[in-house]
Amino acid sequence: MSEENPCLSCGACCAHFRIMLHGDEVEPVGHVPRALVDPVGTAFCMKGTDSYPPRCIALEGELGQVVRCSIYDVRPQVCREFNEYELDGTPNPACFKLRGLVPPKV
Ligand code: SF4
Ligand code: SF4
Repeated sequence: MSEENPCLSCGACCAHFRIMLHGDEVEPVGHVPRALVDPVGTAFCMKGTDSYPPRCIALEGELGQVVRCSIYDVRPQVCREFNEYELDGTPNPACFKLRGLVPPKV
């Protein structure tokens, strides 16, 4: 991991994917605010990510400049699992691709 978290100035994945959640992640069972999600079949997605161009309703700031997730502490599981590096230290190729970068060799 670099010295500074690149997510603080990126936000690309929050404005690219449809962010899906299980129902148990959404209020009142879970912690993701119900007002920020739309139903998709028996599941949910973060509002703004099921349209084009996608951008999660919870993403604040300007892409590539300064961004933050307004529900960071209760963000969906899929967001928690998508990072620059995987838990085993290998680069997440999808993250690097979104940023137009080649993953470093490890
Ligand atoms: S996980 Fe990767 S694509 Fe998503 S905000 Fe962080 S650096 Fe950008
Ligand atoms: S909930 Fe937060 S981390 Fe997840 S896509 Fe939206 S802004 Fe990004």
